[in-house]
Amino acid sequence: MTRYDVIVVGAGIAGSLVAQRLGRHGRRVLVLEAGAKAGRAPAGDPLTDYLTAAARLPGSPYRSRPAAASPEVTDLAGTDGTPGFRAAGHLLQDGPLPYASGYVRANGGTGNVWTGLTPRMLPEDFDTESFGYGRAWPLTYDDLEPHYRSAEAELGVAADADEQRAHLGLRFPDGYVFPMRPLPAARLDRLLAARLDGRRVEDPVGLREVELRVVGTPHARNGVPDPRYDGGRGYVPRGRDGRPDPGSRCVGNASCIPHCPSYAKYTPLKTQGRWSSSVTLRDRSVVSRVLVDGRGRATGVEYRSYDGEVSVAHADVVVLAAHAVENARLLLLSGLADRSGQVGRNLMDHPVLLTWGLLPEGEHAGAYRGPGSVSGFEGFRSGPARKLRAPFRVEFGTWGWIWAKGPVDTDVAHFLTEQGLFGEELRRAVGDRVRRQFTFQFEMEQGADPANRVTLHPTERDALGLPRPLVTYDLDEHVKEGMAAARAVSDQLFALLGAEDHTDYTPSAAWPGRFEHRGRTYGYRGAGHAAGTHIMGGSRATSVVDAWQRCWDHPGLYAVGCGSMPSVATSNPTLTMAALALRSAERIEADLTARDHPLSLRPTVPGAPA
Ligand SMILES: Cc1cc2nc3c(=O)[nH]c(=O)nc-3n(C[C@H](O)[C@H](O)[C@H](O)COP(=O)(O)OP(=O)(O)OC[C@H]3O[C@@H](n4cnc5c(N)ncnc54)[C@H](O)[C@@H]3O)c2cc1C
Ligand code: SF4
Repeated sequence: MTRYDVIVVGAGIAGSLVAQRLGRHGRRVLVLEAGAKAGRAPAGDPLTDYLTAAARLPGSPYRSRPAAASPEVTDLAGTDGTPGFRAAGHLLQDGPLPYASGYVRANGGTGNVWTGLTPRMLPEDFDTESFGYGRAWPLTYDDLEPHYRSAEAELGVAADADEQRAHLGLRFPDGYVFPMRPLPAARLDRLLAARLDGRRVEDPVGLREVELRVVGTPHARNGVPDPRYDGGRGYVPRGRDGRPDPGSRCVGNASCIPHCPSYAKYTPLKTQGRWSSSVTLRDRSVVSRVLVDGRGRATGVEYRSYDGEVSVAHADVVVLAAHAVENARLLLLSGLADRSGQVGRNLMDHPVLLTWGLLPEGEHAGAYRGPGSVSGFEGFRSGPARKLRAPFRVEFGTWGWIWAKGPVDTDVAHFLTEQGLFGEELRRAVGDRVRRQFTFQFEMEQGADPANRVTLHPTERDALGLPRPLVTYDLDEHVKEGMAAARAVSDQLFALLGAEDHTDYTPSAAWPGRFEHRGRTYGYRGAGHAAGTHIMGGSRATSVVDAWQRCWDHPGLYAVGCGSMPSVATSNPTLTMAALALRSAERIEADLTARDHPLSLRPTVPGAPA
């Protein structure tokens, strides 16, 4: 049997990056992936599957695989009464509120279907304990900064460093520019900037005024390369399989979730296309247990094929990169790494408060032309208001009301069934409405709370006979206060714009994430940003992994991904996750080098052979 240097479990963004970096050093890496490779049964071609799917859901380009099932957002439905939701499918839930996010188990993972927004965390995000909530990181922004740059190169990020520096206070080395120039602002962004830049809104919960400023969001999607990048060497965009494709651009198809037909959006398949020949991908291989020796050192894994056949593989280092929920499930299935009692705990997401409306008559938001969000307001992410309420990013939703109410078909149905319009009249009414639609997406930071957790269901099993994950989840007062502030800000934004506010969290079936707070009803969606389940810390007594994402309890075992993050901050987490994964890859390479060239423990004798 081949013995590997490293086994990586999961070929999403985190696993693909670790494998790529170690392969570059010639390490023998086995990547075990639960999903099937595209084009191989039971997976089809994602584009064809997406085009023929009944709905545009994140998982719709990937056929369901009972042996490696994925949770989908439609597994949740709102109900009247308590609890206000029902959960079906792979991820079981016992509330009291729903964890409203899914993930994808196909080769490439959730990174196939993500939106591709890649902001950095703010320096102050690394220590929310100083604001009275969450956990501090054992790392600072400056520790991670060089790895952010590596991740931006790997993912191909388009953004404006000067704008990020000026409006977010981010520190970059002198002269740093992103690989690609920022994406052009959406029509909605330009309209909001013209009407709102420099205006002030009241944050009644954070007890301050905030000046509004439209700021472009960094994107992992191909734009126009910046010739100044990398000391003037420039950057060449990468196409479908990661090969250089200088002409690859985001051309505005507006279907990034779930699939970019022009392959401008980064997916892990681009990184896989650059794996060296020393990396082997074995798909349809569901890892069910991590193996350790008598001293607790990781020695390999046990995995199952779709028909249940059990195999084992051995390596010096095992890297779990199966997504925050599945990493925790694997550690729990293996009975490992839990001396701190924190495995599966501290599950976080960005609960998203949506508000939506119509611009005044005659104005045009330019919906459905480009990525789902290009810019946002960043002024609510930082500062002492965090002591009083959760901080949040505000994304401008440029795909009409799709996230709140469903795609354009729902507008057609509205005019057809409720107003009886047909033909030319119907076309004009739908056109007018969709043109004026916009959404604000308020993404809340959720602090690490040990009570929010993933456990193994005591009786429910998946198709391979493995216990299914069970989530216990709630939103605390800090998050609810953040939503109260966001709603108050939204009210003022609508007033300033003279826009019609159509926000309405009914019917209950469409809003599983719904709660009352201070006499007002709030509805939230999940952002898909699962984090915290194998939390990183400075002490083995209170955390699962150290600052290198090494499991404290088991030499040779790493758990990488957003599950390591002590706080999820207000930035979409994947760029930070990628930076951490690349940093861990360096540590693993150093471990393997030390294995290959152990330092002599004998005292150095002058003249003795080295
Ligand atoms: C709709 C949506 C939009 C998003 N948009 C953004 C965004 O704009 N910006 C951002 O920062 N983040 C975004 N995210 C989050 C982002 O997608 C995730 O943070 C990221 O993909 C996680 O990467 P990962 O490699 O840790 O896990 P995954 O991508 O989930 O990969 C895990 C891999 O492990 C495999 N696997 C699972 N279990 C096993 C097992 N037992 N054995 C072997 N293999 C296994 C899976 O099949 C999968 O391939 C979004 C998420 C969603 C759902
Ligand atoms: S807007 Fe279109 S081209 Fe651009 S990333 Fe999204 S799907 Fe791809």
